[in-house]
Amino acid sequence: MKTLGILGGMSAASTQLYYAYLCELTKEQLGGLHSPELLIRSVDFARIESLQMSNNWKAAGTLLNEEAKRLQDGGAQLLVLATNTMHKLADEMMQGVNIPMIHIADATAQAIQKAGLKRPGLMATRFTMEQRFYLDRLQTAGLDAVVPNKADRATIHTIIYDELCKNFISSESRAHYEIVAQRLIDNGCDSLILGCTEVGMLLGSHNVSVPVFDTTKLHCEAALHAATELE
Ligand code: GLU
Repeated sequence: MKTLGILGGMSAASTQLYYAYLCELTKEQLGGLHSPELLIRSVDFARIESLQMSNNWKAAGTLLNEEAKRLQDGGAQLLVLATNTMHKLADEMMQGVNIPMIHIADATAQAIQKAGLKRPGLMATRFTMEQRFYLDRLQTAGLDAVVPNKADRATIHTIIYDELCKNFISSESRAHYEIVAQRLIDNGCDSLILGCTEVGMLLGSHNVSVPVFDTTKLHCEAALHAATELE
């Protein structure tokens, strides 16, 4: 098995899920006492959030690039950037890095295509829902993704930063998320992308009436597949 380098901490709440899923999947696939070969670099999310809010994406790109190189130098053979939003800076992160990166949007798009679905709703941070870096990638994969209306986007975003990234779960926010998901379904969505690595803390196949694609789980599956396939 190749060593996965997880660039996480964005947020720490979701990086814990990555670790748990990767361990679970490895046990399922390889059995016995197997566990994944991992290097986890968990950054301070307060630093990242302040760069996002001050629109200093250049500095954020430099930071990701430095951390990716550290993971490579430490022995990682594949990179996993454990956040959808920061994939905005995937190209900057990979400057001068020679190991491959498993792109979270590609892993997600492939799963949706495989299920024969076409029009996913996308619940994510405002950056991911309102900028083109993620939607274009889905569109290139032949998917016609739909984002919530402005007010719903603001609610989703606020709950991610004020609650989920702090590992806080409330039934009130879950109810909000369920309403937004249902509005997307009523608008013709045939599936739902949990397009932020924390959204699975509130939504899943148990409370959404169309197939759910959780980017955190799909990213872990794709990463483990690549790590074992390259053997
Ligand atoms: N984990 C989140 C995502 O998947 C949001 C935190 C961040 O901005 O990186 O987009």
